Amino acid sequence: MFSERLKRLSPYVPGEQPQDKTYIKLNTNENPYPPSPEIRDLLRDFSIERLRLYPDPQSKVLCQTIAKAHNVDVEQVFVGNGSDEVLSFVFYAFFDSAMGKLLFPEFTYSFYPVYCDYYGIDYKKIQLNDDYSLSTEGFLNETSCGIIFPNPNAPTGILFPIKKIEQLMKKYPKDRVVVIDEAYIDFGGESAIGLISRFKNLLVARTYSKSMSLAGLRLGYAIGDEKLINALVAAKDSFNSYPVDTLTQKIGEVAIKDSAYYEKINGKIIKTREFLTSELKSLGWEVLPSTANFIFMRKKGLPGKEIYLTLKKNGLLVRYFDIDGIKDFVRITIGQQEDVETLLGKIKKLDTG
Ligand SMILES: *Cc1c(COP(=O)(O)O)cnc(C)c1O
Repeated sequence: MFSERLKRLSPYVPGEQPQDKTYIKLNTNENPYPPSPEIRDLLRDFSIERLRLYPDPQSKVLCQTIAKAHNVDVEQVFVGNGSDEVLSFVFYAFFDSAMGKLLFPEFTYSFYPVYCDYYGIDYKKIQLNDDYSLSTEGFLNETSCGIIFPNPNAPTGILFPIKKIEQLMKKYPKDRVVVIDEAYIDFGGESAIGLISRFKNLLVARTYSKSMSLAGLRLGYAIGDEKLINALVAAKDSFNSYPVDTLTQKIGEVAIKDSAYYEKINGKIIKTREFLTSELKSLGWEVLPSTANFIFMRKKGLPGKEIYLTLKKNGLLVRYFDIDGIKDFVRITIGQQEDVETLLGKIKKLDTG
């Protein structure tokens, strides 16, 4: 009854979204602040008559608005239902094992191997340095069909500096695509979008889910050379040519224009991250240097699973990975300041048993 294709799959496991009781949710990197208040005005004035018609299949106005926000041409923008969908088209359109394996870091976003399984792409995980940072050599040492990594990386939170991206792009073959997944770039890193005019094989993926506080909306986009964007459009139109719904297109336009609001809330997240990091360090925790809206931390003698379970019992959800090499870490999403203070109280008790 089931295809061999299906039997081979190993589906992605997202962080839990329990409905049983209210937890302080610090496990899935959602933004703790509400999205732009401009969206409320839009919804109040939105005419339901517009839902009678199909959406614009090209999301033209949304692409124009995104292009303007990033100072690129509209032909350099592609939008999809969350960056996960954008990435699914990326894997389909650019990565082909006949040209070599796809390379990504050994500890990274766990959706990448899932898409590789789905599309039959061979991949190789590149070892991180001892301090968990990315190593450029690893990406250049062998023939590959492409490279993908989040920047900053997840779940480590460590940024790969823009200078190093530039060096990598100079050395990497021009006929293979490098994808930088900038899901967390707005929390303190420098975007690679400024490099796309120089490197036609560089694609940057973005999401509205984290820094724009719209994970429930499902909107993401990619920015790159027009040829890459056209390839993504061809992949999309061979699958479902009406991907982003009318209301989401409108909300996406309004949200990305309100950069002043987002700078304010994300600035607060950065401040809370720095506060939490320094408090934890003074309690003897090792915290990897993060430019994301989460931190990755451990303490000698405390297995990640134990930290996770004890915090859960105390009403706080964090993420722990049952993966060799990072089992002693937990990843904690930066919440509002008072959530983080509650967390710190519980963590102090963890220490004393
Ligand atoms: C959250 C996340 C995504 C997915 O974002 P959506 O737009 O919600 O699909 C992609 N890549 C990384 C690294 C992420 O952390």
